Amino acid sequence: MTALASTEAIPTEVFVPSHPCAVRQTPHGAGVFAIRAISRGARILRIDGRLQTHPTRYSIQLDVDVHIECFDHDENSNSTASTQMRSRHPWRFLNHSCEPNARVFGRSLLARRAISAGEQISFDYTTTEAEMAEPFHCGCGNSNCLGLVRGFAHLSPAQQRLRGTRLAPHLRRLLVSDAPSTADE
Ligand SMILES: [Zn+2]
Repeated sequence: MTALASTEAIPTEVFVPSHPCAVRQTPHGAGVFAIRAISRGARILRIDGRLQTHPTRYSIQLDVDVHIECFDHDENSNSTASTQMRSRHPWRFLNHSCEPNARVFGRSLLARRAISAGEQISFDYTTTEAEMAEPFHCGCGNSNCLGLVRGFAHLSPAQQRLRGTRLAPHLRRLLVSDAPSTADE
């Protein structure tokens, strides 16, 4: 049982040991930022934690009824302030973008393109989450912004197809099963 003291000050920057990123506190909340240039295709961080059958605000969906959370997640506390949490589970602080610079591949976060030092790292939550535990309004500002982000199940068929190979396997299977038999994989 880990108690995260509510009085603990929120750290402004927590480095992730041997990774090219840090969790930084911004006026808009925490996010993951590149601390050096990251090349296209490189692994930015590894997503590890405890598997559970239901999503939470911060979990990432890996398969049908398989969601990864931090090892010491307390359902009654959404505290994310601790330095240990930020250095051990930085993936929980990844923000969503409808035009992201990274993507989830299995238990890894990979760079979709070259990322400069100082850039915030993001991925598209609808490429892993069928149903968001907590839908929210996206303010990424991209021309293809979804607005209300509720999960893959709420995207139009065109929006689903657009995500194509970035989709986690459990979502890609849904695409394939709905596609005409002539569709290439
Ligand atoms: Zn957006």
